[in-house]
Amino acid sequence: MTTFFDTLIEQAQRTARQGDGNSYEFFASRFTQEIDRHAARLASHDASALIAKAVEQGDYIDPEEEAALFKGCCAHGLDYGYCPAGCDDVDDTDDESDPEWLEAQDALIAEWEAEEERARLEQIAARDDRVLNIIDSIRSTGRLVA
Ligand SMILES: [Zn+2]
Repeated sequence: MTTFFDTLIEQAQRTARQGDGNSYEFFASRFTQEIDRHAARLASHDASALIAKAVEQGDYIDPEEEAALFKGCCAHGLDYGYCPAGCDDVDDTDDESDPEWLEAQDALIAEWEAEEERARLEQIAARDDRVLNIIDSIRSTGRLVA
């Protein structure tokens, strides 16, 4: 039986897979963010149940696990020097003046920024929904005259 939580977890997996560059670290990090985002919209006991289910599923990581996963790689979960976004270890001295490399790097950064912007707008929309629901419930109970 597919529950509401299963649906949220599947949604989070789909979203996390988009643009993860086949990096498990990046996927797990994004999956965790998605689950947290869904959880933020739920009542606290439902949020706990959703997170418990996501933990059970295996890709939800706590901050400690995240730190361990990303050890030795950049924020995109790739080894230093191999990330198209140009994340290099501090003592890496690769030549990054190749125009093709720079172009690919810019395209990927633009894609990631667009995704972050979409996520940000979704969060704002979710917050606005919550505020409107609160206003509606205040109005319907007659405790506030607009
Ligand atoms: Zn990177």
